[in-house]
Amino acid sequence: MAFQLNCPCGTQILSRDDDLLVDVRAHLADAHPGRDYSDNEIRMLAAPVPDRLLGA
Ligand SMILES: [Zn+2]
Repeated sequence: MAFQLNCPCGTQILSRDDDLLVDVRAHLADAHPGRDYSDNEIRMLAAPVPDRLLGA
């Protein structure tokens, strides 16, 4: 399963389920220092997408 999260800043984060939390937190640390979300909040913001969108 893959997930896509559209950050309010316009960045699209596309990740495998296992990588989603790490990728989103990396973006937050990079682009939005000081903001953090719980695992549940991140999962609620992410929408499932077909794995093929990952380009694998
Ligand atoms: Zn952002």
